[in-house]
Amino acid sequence: MVMRADQTSERALRQAICETARVIWSRGLGAAADGNLSVRLGSNRIITTPSGCHKGRLTPQQLAMTDLSGKVLSRAKPSSELALHLAAYAERPDVHAVIHAHPPMATAYELAGGALSEVFVSEVIFAFGQVATAPYVTPTTADVGRVLAPYLKCYDVVMMPRHGVVTLGEDLDQAFIRLDAMEHTARIVTFAQLLGARFQGSPKPLPDDEVQRLYSAAGRNPSSAPCPPLERKSSDEERLVAAVLDELKRGSMS
Ligand SMILES: [Zn+2]
Repeated sequence: MVMRADQTSERALRQAICETARVIWSRGLGAAADGNLSVRLGSNRIITTPSGCHKGRLTPQQLAMTDLSGKVLSRAKPSSELALHLAAYAERPDVHAVIHAHPPMATAYELAGGALSEVFVSEVIFAFGQVATAPYVTPTTADVGRVLAPYLKCYDVVMMPRHGVVTLGEDLDQAFIRLDAMEHTARIVTFAQLLGARFQGSPKPLPDDEVQRLYSAAGRNPSSAPCPPLERKSSDEERLVAAVLDELKRGSMS
């Protein structure tokens, strides 16, 4: 049977999603049912992981397909986090693959109050630039795409507080390499901070002027306004801070 080029490429893309999902699960970058992956297929379709599947045992036939508006074109139901994938493709014509995972070290680092945008290891600038942290948003709700869109437009790696990360790439390998680099860096920094307590104190991030030199060496431009800032307090925290300031103001006037 003669196979058309787009059929060959669809088959290869389905295979690549399954292989990458298996690696993500086997390397502990998410629990078995966690996360989701997608790739662009042609100009108006994506292939994506189905809802609630075991990432270590996924087969090409199990994958779901939608158009870029989210209309389901397959029998398989896509993941409940489809909105973040669609937001990435809508904002970034250069992006052909999206991975959402729950890497434990990076997620724990953010949960404990660590600023993932700080640069401790030079390699991250070459791999993906800096990690941006979006405001907290309830997973699977319609707000996810709206809240993440401005971040996905500007950054290749975006942390969702108390949840996980989204990485973007020109292809699946690049999106995976960015996820792997992010988690590896979070591991190094976490160990350095634990060991620092025993030796010379907490490691310090590289100063801004060296970060700028790294961007030049990597041939990248740091994202700047109107991009949202790299670190952002969650709206809950902002509301709490505003309420405390109001209370203090009232106290000082009475
Ligand atoms: Zn998730």
